[in-house]
Amino acid sequence: MICLEVRLVRCSTASAPSRLPGLDRAVNPYRGCAHSCAYCYAQDVTRFAIGDAWGSIVEVKVNIVQMLKKELERGKDGVYGVGTVTDPYQPIEAKHGLTRGCLSMLKRYGAQASVLTKSSLVTRDIDLFTGWSGIEVGLSIACVDERVSRAVEPDAPPPKARFEALSAMVDADVDVYLMAAPIIPGISDSRHLLESLIESAADAGVRRVMWDSWNPKPIAASRLRDCLEDHGLVLDGIEAKVGPQTQATLRESCKERDIQLISAF
Ligand code: SF4
Repeated sequence: MICLEVRLVRCSTASAPSRLPGLDRAVNPYRGCAHSCAYCYAQDVTRFAIGDAWGSIVEVKVNIVQMLKKELERGKDGVYGVGTVTDPYQPIEAKHGLTRGCLSMLKRYGAQASVLTKSSLVTRDIDLFTGWSGIEVGLSIACVDERVSRAVEPDAPPPKARFEALSAMVDADVDVYLMAAPIIPGISDSRHLLESLIESAADAGVRRVMWDSWNPKPIAASRLRDCLEDHGLVLDGIEAKVGPQTQATLRESCKERDIQLISAF
């Protein structure tokens, strides 16, 4: 585990336009992410903390809830993506509650929101999600292999805990989906791993799976290479494109279980 430096900062805006499919605005209560995933390309996109170990610094936007309230008072604007370049339920959320605060505000103003996380902490907010027709929640699980997960997502909850979180939200009638991403060539794209992923999702009661392949941007690619090498895992092919076989396997596995499969991009 990396030693975490927490910086309390003030933001001048709470949301920004989003170019991600299906999202109109992005809300990120934190900058940086203590889940420290080796494949994360948020640093390539945000240019945050270059030179520091990824996951070692997290900025906490202490006034984001008040700023979001002001923005919503002026009018809401389509679908708000909560956690587009950071995990909104990374461990520090348990202390600061900014994600919960932003979601409460969005719900209060009748906005639509889409949350994506790989943390079981999201189940804390089931009470917020129930009865809110404009919310969807995605749980991201790339690979059911615990050894791979420990290596490449060292500070995120293990896949088993995430499947339990999915199951808890299904039981609570939350609109929830599995984000099967990022699928990394040579790491998580074998037939066996893909089928196990979909089987576990079905066991958790999931009816919708979105998938995406890994985007080997320069900083992320270099970090992942180092990480895999350190753990004695395969190195070849990680920067290749995920082949059509991956999509075919996912499609077949989902069809067998009557699960809807969507491509993220
Ligand atoms: S949880 Fe998401 S944002 Fe956080 S380090 Fe992992 S991939 Fe990046």
